[in-house]
Order: sequence, then structure tokens, then C-alpha cells
Amino acid sequence: MSHRPIYLDCHATTPVDERVLAAMLPYFTEKFGNPASINHVYGWEAEAAVKQTRESLAAAINATPEEIVFTSGATEANNLAIKGIAEAYFQKGQHIITVATEHKAVLDPCEYLKSLGFEITILPVQQDGLIDLNQLETACRPETILVSVMAANNEIGVLQPLAEIGKICRDRNIIFHTDAAQAIGKIPLDVQAMNIDLMSLTAHKVYGPKGIGALYVRRRNPRVQLAPQQHGGGHERGMRSGTLYTPQIVGFGKAIELALAEQATETARLTQLRQSLWTQLSQLEGIHLNGHQTQRLAGNLNISVEGVDGAALSLGLQPVMAVSSGSACSSAVIAPSHVLTALGNSEQLAYASVRFGIGRFNTTEEIDIVAKSAIATIQSLRKQKTLV
Ligand SMILES: *Cc1c(COP(=O)(O)O)cnc(C)c1O
Repeated sequence: MSHRPIYLDCHATTPVDERVLAAMLPYFTEKFGNPASINHVYGWEAEAAVKQTRESLAAAINATPEEIVFTSGATEANNLAIKGIAEAYFQKGQHIITVATEHKAVLDPCEYLKSLGFEITILPVQQDGLIDLNQLETACRPETILVSVMAANNEIGVLQPLAEIGKICRDRNIIFHTDAAQAIGKIPLDVQAMNIDLMSLTAHKVYGPKGIGALYVRRRNPRVQLAPQQHGGGHERGMRSGTLYTPQIVGFGKAIELALAEQATETARLTQLRQSLWTQLSQLEGIHLNGHQTQRLAGNLNISVEGVDGAALSLGLQPVMAVSSGSACSSAVIAPSHVLTALGNSEQLAYASVRFGIGRFNTTEEIDIVAKSAIATIQSLRKQKTLV
């Protein structure tokens, strides 16, 4: 394994922590019951495990266990939130507000609703990636039913001011949804203090398994109505039918418990690693930081590099490090990242960008190797360019 590149793509996904895997294993073969089976011990023990995760998730965001709806991940949670609200509240209004730098799992459902006749306002961001709260206030109308703003950006790590956004929405009786796929377990989240009504979560960005996530749905002050997007049996209070995936749910709970217990120390450690990487890289000329200096995830560093070709940069880094570049990998068509262009980057600078996603298993030694190698690659590419 030692010849494999150093993994620095923790915004794409993370490995499952061994402790998470150990917690999951018995639920595949021994405790394999259906949590909906109420007549025997197999069902009861699975239900107890699911309940435990509900409690862990609820505690992590200051919600109650009944407000957690399990889904297959954040993509499904975003779809359920956005389409579910649109369908439940369309008689009240048909206007939705979101942001240019959102994940496609928010932008695409909004685009779909637009095709059905909803009106979508897409707020721009400032150069640092933050939204302008005055613009949000101006965009709110009597017929606005939903504001969807992500907690932490998956490309540039920028943390939006959730509490301020929540207050603006609550004052106007507008439902506030946040995609917290990158934020859960990494920054403090509080649905009460922040006036959040819906929150999308996922396990695999925080050392849990892929294929499991949740939507927090507020039950009180106010009670949020949601039209289910999947029918069949009425699981999850009717909001999301389907047999619960117990092993994944157990892993999700364990992953969140671990992340919370280690959040403060891990944030400090990752901040140091990121700072060290930035200090080394920024010794080069023509390196730009994408996103706010400090208002960002500890493990995120995103840079644009002047004077190099994006594809060549990506190829040059590949042998030593697994990082993401500034092209949209989500589709078959290669396009510059919509997040980086929303910050005001040229297409050229958006392509010639690198996202470093530092995580739990990265070490100081790895960061030093990565910094040296990236500097050498950039210098060599620039030199080649001046030669031709
Ligand atoms: C990864 C990610 C998603 C998608 O989550 P899945 O669980 O993979 O469906 C959605 N939003 C953000 C911000 C993400 O980073």
C-alpha cells in the first residue's frame, strides 16, 4: 500500500474508521433482524441499535430522536427536503432561495422544480465565498417557502453564517434548510440556536460508511410538513419508506459519536496541518487561496495556481497525492467548477486549482511530502511553459 498516493480528498469521501467498522460487523450476520419486526428479539436488537444512532445524531445537532429521518445519504436528504417542501407548501408560495456555490444535490432539485413552475433565486457569493445577508433579506418575499444554504462548502470549505440566516428566515416564517454533509462532526451545529428547520447529513464524509445519511425534520416551533418522495410501508414517520439499513445506521452513529468526542482536538490538529501546507505553498508566487481565510473547515485548503495548465497540474500531482482539481467531476462533460467561478475566478484559474482535503489519518510528515512535491510540480510546469 505504501506506493499509493497520499490521500488528501476527504471532501469526496473518507475511509471508514476501524472503530466504526467494528461496531457495524455484528449487524450483518448475527444481529441481522429487521428493526420493524416487533415480535422477536432479532427485530428488537436491531431497533435498539437504530434508536441509539437516532439519539447520537439528535444529540449532535440539539434535536430530538423523532426528528431524524434516515436516508441513503445527503443527496437523498436534499431531494427529500427541497422537493418535499415544494410539494407540501406550494399553495403558500412557489419561491425558493438558494446559493450559487451549493452542491449539485441542492442545485439540481431546484432546477427540476423550476421546470415545474417554481421560481428559484440563486444568490451570488462574495469573493470570499460567503453570502451577503442583506441580499438574502432583499430576496425574501411573502411567497418564499424555502431558503437552502449549505453549512460548509465541499470545494472551498467556507462556512456560511447559519445562525444569522436562520434568524432572517424565522423572522419571516420561511423554512430554512441546510446541507450539512461537510459540517457534521466538524463544526458545532445547533438546530435550536441556529433556527434550522431541515438539515441534511451523511456518514461517509466523517469516517462512516457510504450509503447512509439522514434528514433532520423539525417537529415543533414550527412543525415542518414534508411530502414523502418515496412511498411503501410508512417507515420513518411516513417520510421515507424502506427497510432500515441497520449496519450502516450503526456505523453512522458510531462515526458521529467519535467525531464529536474528538472534534476540538482534531480541529486544532487539522488547522495546524492546513496552515503548514499553506505556509509552504504560498512561498511560491501566483498562488491564490480560494474561500475565506478563517471562516472555513479546518481540513480544507483550496488554491488556484497562476501560469500552469489545469490538466497538466492535475496529472503532475497524481503520483504523490490524491487531490481534486477544479473541474466538475460530477458530470461526463468537463467544465470548470461552478463554485470557483462563482468566486470570480477565470475559467483558466478555476481549472488550475487544487483542493486539499486533509483528514483524520493524515500526518505532519505526509503534509511536508505533499507540499514539497506540489511546489516542485508547479515550478517544473512553469519552467516548461516558459521554454515552449
Ligand atoms: C458529499 C456531499 C453531498 C452528497 O452526499 P452523499 O451522501 O454522497 O449523497 C451533498 N452535499 C454536500 C455538501 C456534500 O459534500
